[in-house]
Amino acid sequence: MKPGKEKELCTHLVNKMIFGDKRDVFDENLELFKSLSSRKDFQSKEQLEDNDDDSTKVVEKRTLEKYFEDEWMPCKEKWAGYLTSQLKHFGCVTTQRVKSGHNALKRKISALQSLNSSFEQICSYILQFEGDYQNLELNEATITDARIYHEPRLHRLIHHVSRIGLITICAELLEEVVPGELCNCRVKVVFGLPCRHDLPRDRMLLLSDIPERWILSSSLGERLKQLECDVSLQKIDIEKPAPWVKCITKLEQLFRQCEGNQQVQNLMAMVDELVDNAGEIIDHPNFVFPLA
Ligand SMILES: [Zn+2]
Repeated sequence: MKPGKEKELCTHLVNKMIFGDKRDVFDENLELFKSLSSRKDFQSKEQLEDNDDDSTKVVEKRTLEKYFEDEWMPCKEKWAGYLTSQLKHFGCVTTQRVKSGHNALKRKISALQSLNSSFEQICSYILQFEGDYQNLELNEATITDARIYHEPRLHRLIHHVSRIGLITICAELLEEVVPGELCNCRVKVVFGLPCRHDLPRDRMLLLSDIPERWILSSSLGERLKQLECDVSLQKIDIEKPAPWVKCITKLEQLFRQCEGNQQVQNLMAMVDELVDNAGEIIDHPNFVFPLA
């Protein structure tokens, strides 16, 4: 295997340890990672003593395996998926988002300018950021995915619950519940949303069924009112979901599981291929998309 490919594989294995939520998946990938990272070509030169005189520098070679064992394993509860999946982390398991926040600000500032103009640029960046945030809030309250309109149980939540919350609940409602099944749903533990086992199946959902965090701020008062008084819970008949709802929901889940641009590109290539070869399937009534 080429060294570049090995590096890529190591990164892939670490990602699997970070994002997989099962203990055996972690152990399996750790074993593979160890066998790959113990090789000589994964050595780093580390300077133990930094003397002015170059000739007395003490240099130690450490393999990637040793580095991983010393630096990563002692704090695995902070990154190993099977441990972090027991915490409510809302999908943030790396420092990537904080870093992209810093990066976005840094892109707006030049290193070669006076302190004064730097402050001015930071100020205009924050104003722009605030405006974008308000637009996002407006979008959340006004734009609804076609799948949500297609699910009658969610009708009373439209324009009141955040988009990603609605889509996650919608996906949970599409899942069958096996009686007696153990509930350790990621949706519940990691995102604090009701899972397929908690959601009522035969009535409309109310704001009081949804945790406060997922309600748009303008609708929090309405949620409080529903909690205080008994709102009549009308039973409704539920139809089988249309095939396109399941397909799009699955595709979105796959998209959100992608780590990095390469995986997104691979997924999109598969979708393109499918659409190119779909032919007459596209005209089938099951695949006619409703207009939202
Ligand atoms: Zn569950």
